[in-house]
Amino acid sequence: MYANKKSEFIEVVSNFLEETSLQDKPTGLQLDAFNPESFRKNVEVAISKLEEYLGDTSIRGINLTNPYELLKQAQNIMLGSGEQEKLEAIIDLYLKTGIAVHSPGYMGRQFSGVIPLAGIMDLVNSTINQPSSFYEAAQLPNVAEEIMANELNQFIGWETGTFAMVTTSGGSLGTLTALLAARNNKFPELWSKGFSALEGQGYPAIAVGDGHYSISRAAGILGIGEEQIVRLPLNDKKQICIEKVRPTLEAAEEKGLTVFAIVSSTGTTTMGAFDPIEQLSHIAQEKNIWLHVDGCHGASLLVCDQLRDKVKGIEKADSFVWDTHKTMFMPGVCTLLFYKNKEKSYGAFHQDASYVFEKQPDVYTQFDRAQQNFECTKRPLIMNLWVTWSIYGRELFANKLEYLCQLTQNAYGILEQEKDFQTVHDPEMNILCFRYLPSNLEETALPEFQVMIRNRLKEGGTFFISKVNVDGKACLRVVFMNHKIEIVHFQLLLREIRKIGQEIIQSA
Ligand SMILES: *Cc1c(COP(=O)(O)O)cnc(C)c1O
Repeated sequence: MYANKKSEFIEVVSNFLEETSLQDKPTGLQLDAFNPESFRKNVEVAISKLEEYLGDTSIRGINLTNPYELLKQAQNIMLGSGEQEKLEAIIDLYLKTGIAVHSPGYMGRQFSGVIPLAGIMDLVNSTINQPSSFYEAAQLPNVAEEIMANELNQFIGWETGTFAMVTTSGGSLGTLTALLAARNNKFPELWSKGFSALEGQGYPAIAVGDGHYSISRAAGILGIGEEQIVRLPLNDKKQICIEKVRPTLEAAEEKGLTVFAIVSSTGTTTMGAFDPIEQLSHIAQEKNIWLHVDGCHGASLLVCDQLRDKVKGIEKADSFVWDTHKTMFMPGVCTLLFYKNKEKSYGAFHQDASYVFEKQPDVYTQFDRAQQNFECTKRPLIMNLWVTWSIYGRELFANKLEYLCQLTQNAYGILEQEKDFQTVHDPEMNILCFRYLPSNLEETALPEFQVMIRNRLKEGGTFFISKVNVDGKACLRVVFMNHKIEIVHFQLLLREIRKIGQEIIQSA
């Protein structure tokens, strides 16, 4: 039937074109930009550069360039000519100035050396452009979200159809969205009446442990001041100290605060500590408080048989976020926001927009996500993960994570043997914090010693690591995100740290 209609239509069109005198074709436009053949040529340029880049196993961190110098180089490229030549020059400069995330020298941040297949899908995403908040604009991505939600729920264990998964552009936005749902759940009138709805009620507050800065930002956006962020005391492993949670919450209530959400972390940014979610969930339930888990870094352990216990209790949380662009090795960004209760996922945003939202949902609009996510135009974030999961399966992620966590344990074991290094925690995942404290350091007064080491290391261009404050004192921090790192690379790193550290001491 459809085929018949289509050939009929083609006939109508050709008759119409023959009869019409209109000949106005667009002129003056650079239609070559849309030429499929030049697309292929450009892709070939890019792919061969990337192939070379991915094959480079040298130990390198970042080639830090003065921004004004880089500005000049970039402007010079613009003066050149030739489509492929310019593209090639831009890609070269891009690769040269980026942190070498695929190199064993990259040990510093939580963004990953991407699984290349995901990058290929991203090219497709960008070229065909199907923004995914609405089913009709992005049919396959919305179906893929449904599939991935159920695939990943195998490791969470909720009943099919009772939970929801929403993709957001990053964990910061995911947590903001979840906290908005939590707030509206506790204060249903706030959405329509604003703060006037709070008359006679306690001030809305949240309770957090060693939270990422995005949590305070989300609080600020929701109108929760610093004074309404209840800090839950930490134990010596930097996890929320469970014994102190009840008294802290009760003290907050006495001060007139209504804590509507507890935000815990599985894998804190500082050092990858895991809060006791299971026990927190009991307290949250008892006090009728929403439990949100920031699993941006650590929720991926769900897919590892050997490590899943670390996130035990996550299924009892009301919501949690999971950054696939970190420990699922996807390109930035794709965050999964899970809600235990599907209905509650619609609580974050209450909006009427007749041009997009249907009053009478049909079979298509049931798959729309726009009521649950903040973005209107949203990239089809799930596609990179879905294609990778379809082709390589869970094992790729599980094996890589298990390797990286074991590597971190081995590195910790080495540090424990070295007298001039001090460990500050027994690492729970793939983040390891430590200090270089040689015996001759005390002769000098160098309060910024660890930071100086880190900066010189960065400028040296071989290793890229980060730094973090633990108990107010700076530490060196490595994050193993890359399976190309072997223990010898860590030993090489220690050698570099000693060399740089001694140079700093000598010149002090
Ligand atoms: C990275 C991170 C965030 C922020 O997520 P984005 O995706 O960068 O917005 C929040 N919490 C934790 C624990 C993180 O590691």
